[in-house]
Amino acid sequence: MSEPRGAALPGLRSEERATREGGASKAPRGERTRIAVVTGGTSGIGLAIAERLSKDGCQVAALDLNPSATRFGQVADVTDRAQVDAALAAVRERLGPVTILVNAAGVDGFKRFADLTFEAWQRVIDVNLNGVFHCIQAVLPDMLETGWGRIVNISSSSTHSGQPFMAHYVAAKSAVNGLTKSLALELGPSGITVNAVPPGMIDTPMLRRAEARGRLGGKIEDHIERTPVRRIGRPEDIAAACAFLVSEEAGYITGQIIGVNGGRNT
Ligand code: NAD
Repeated sequence: MSEPRGAALPGLRSEERATREGGASKAPRGERTRIAVVTGGTSGIGLAIAERLSKDGCQVAALDLNPSATRFGQVADVTDRAQVDAALAAVRERLGPVTILVNAAGVDGFKRFADLTFEAWQRVIDVNLNGVFHCIQAVLPDMLETGWGRIVNISSSSTHSGQPFMAHYVAAKSAVNGLTKSLALELGPSGITVNAVPPGMIDTPMLRRAEARGRLGGKIEDHIERTPVRRIGRPEDIAAACAFLVSEEAGYITGQIIGVNGGRNT
């Protein structure tokens, strides 16, 4: 069935629309431009997601406190809206409007609740929750304009049952799950899906640091025995779930909290 001339073509950049409509652009006919921003994209889970989306044909920018060694990256603190806006402006300038956002930047925290200072509470909420707020708000105009978008928030399997000494972390990540569900309802009519992936134990620098500080209640190997699939998670396991959720064919999946945890939480 042919599209009427001048009809909106959701998800296509303006030059591609021009191509479809007979204009002079060199963009491939009908091919959706997938420009992705991955926060926390220079380490662990975020890095694996950036690599995977790139392999799948997206143009990917990593937004992190640390510069990216392997790809176009923007140094920005997700808690600072001015830095996020400036980073996003640079990404748009270089790659185009952002239609995929994966929020993977995060920090952990371990403290008995009675000893938790408000500053420590605030810092973990600031990075893990407010950072997600800033990044989604900053990319949203691009997605609304395009009429297509994919947002994936990396929360945590600790939200399934809570975690002692991590009240601030679990509170922030649980709020991210709630934000995900609410935004899915709000943004669905605009062609934007919003999902969360709460990882189980994934072998990253964050997890190894926690193990080295004795925060895991044993060694990683002890946790493998309690994991039905009998191995620790790999960053690539999370990247695979994200790759599917940002794909075209996942367009009917939104507002979902999709655990990737080897069966530890069902
Ligand atoms: P990681 O420490 O290897 O990577 C986190 C990245 O986030 C780093 O590159 C860091 O520089 C960046 N970052 C931190 N604060 C930032 C800020 N304010 N602004 C911009 N970037 C910032 O950790 P990871 O294990 O890959 O964790 C990735 C995400 O997955 C986090 O949100 C974490 O809470 C979540 N998670 C991890 C596990 C796990 O077992 N590793 C389990 C559940 C959830």
